[in-house]
Amino acid sequence: MTKENLKISIAHLYPKYMNLYGDIGNIITLKSRCMRRGIEVEFDEINSGDKISNHDLYFIGGGQDKQQEEVVNELFSHKSELTSQMNDGAVFLGICGGYQLFGHYYQPHGKDKLKGLSLMDAYTVAGSKRFIGNVTIETDFLTPQTLVGFENHSGLTYLQGNTKPLGKVIVGNGNNGKDGFEGGRYKNVFGTYLHGSLLPKNPHFADYLISLALEKRYGEKIEPAPLDDTLEWEAHNSVIRKPY
Ligand code: GLN
Repeated sequence: MTKENLKISIAHLYPKYMNLYGDIGNIITLKSRCMRRGIEVEFDEINSGDKISNHDLYFIGGGQDKQQEEVVNELFSHKSELTSQMNDGAVFLGICGGYQLFGHYYQPHGKDKLKGLSLMDAYTVAGSKRFIGNVTIETDFLTPQTLVGFENHSGLTYLQGNTKPLGKVIVGNGNNGKDGFEGGRYKNVFGTYLHGSLLPKNPHFADYLISLALEKRYGEKIEPAPLDDTLEWEAHNSVIRKPY
């Protein structure tokens, strides 16, 4: 496969509701890192009532309980097509409230469970305190291994079965403040509590996701050409191990 005329399609799910703490910065980063390499981006913003066609990458940001309640039925109505997309190798990135809805359910305080997509074997229950602060985690699949961001959630997420964590918590609380892990991954579905937004300060993860989306589309591994990430790494290194 030559590196000319490459394309990926990206769907942004329900940004009018699920876009806390600048999570749209992840979409801006994915688009920018593709276009700076001449990779065309077919972009689709999915709002209430829209169909969700096939894409190489799906993104959903965070949301307070109320926003999650607004989108949950609509999101769940697309469960079967999103599940088949996952099984076809599509890439998913969910941040915080979006991540929680990738599991079987999110149980807010004193309210009915919000049913999730079950893309991951995981579930979330609202805890008694909010976890708010800087987070550094260590992955086993990125170089460098660290991912940085900040968390602001009361939900406690528990991974089960073949769903693996995104990384080990170095600073912060992560999924539930107890098991020492943060985020989740199953196939090419990634969830994390890292707001920030995540990808501008973690260019290696952004490129990892772009490479997976290219592989889904073209059926072979395609490494995106390197970019000058001096600023991005300065931002990354300024947060590493920043106290909570
Ligand atoms: N409402 C969820 C919680 O409080 C998710 C919050 C978020 O997306 N930052 O855990």
